[in-house]
Amino acid sequence: MHDSVPAHDPSCLFCRILAGEIPSSRVLETPDAVAILDIQPVNFGHVLLVPRLHHADLAELPDDVAARVATLLPRLARAIQAACKADGLNVVINNGRAAGQTVFHGHWHLVPRFVGDAVRWPWPQGRYEGDAMAVTQAAIALQLTST
Ligand code: AMP
Ligand code: ZN
Repeated sequence: MHDSVPAHDPSCLFCRILAGEIPSSRVLETPDAVAILDIQPVNFGHVLLVPRLHHADLAELPDDVAARVATLLPRLARAIQAACKADGLNVVINNGRAAGQTVFHGHWHLVPRFVGDAVRWPWPQGRYEGDAMAVTQAAIALQLTST
């Protein structure tokens, strides 16, 4: 069972935080995950939900571990919004360097949001032209039949 003996990478910042080798401000601990305050918050109350199991990114996280960790999201969202008196909350995973990931032990960001805060969101969105939407749909659906 991967959760009874969590994989630990001694070169990984979050593994070291989870092991208590580096201090953190913990708000929740379960057998599967630890939630800590991000040391450089987008807004106060910015929480990182970190699975105990070392995995580089979301794609490497076993489905059952992902399910148990993700179960914590609604409760964390309620607590952060209430404690910070936030108007809203973004839940984000930066998956891979191109997506802005900097710590390669996958984690969820929960970012409290306030009307008129300085965060620039949403991101710019485009549109599909011609058959690009159908081609993209087919390509992803095909991958899902084999994984
Ligand atoms: P990401 O860029 O999605 O990989 O997110 C990594 C996050 O970890 C960043 O938002 C950092 O501010 C945060 N971070 C880095 N070092 C620490 C630390 N020692 N304690 C808490 N958060 C950290
Ligand atoms: Zn790790």
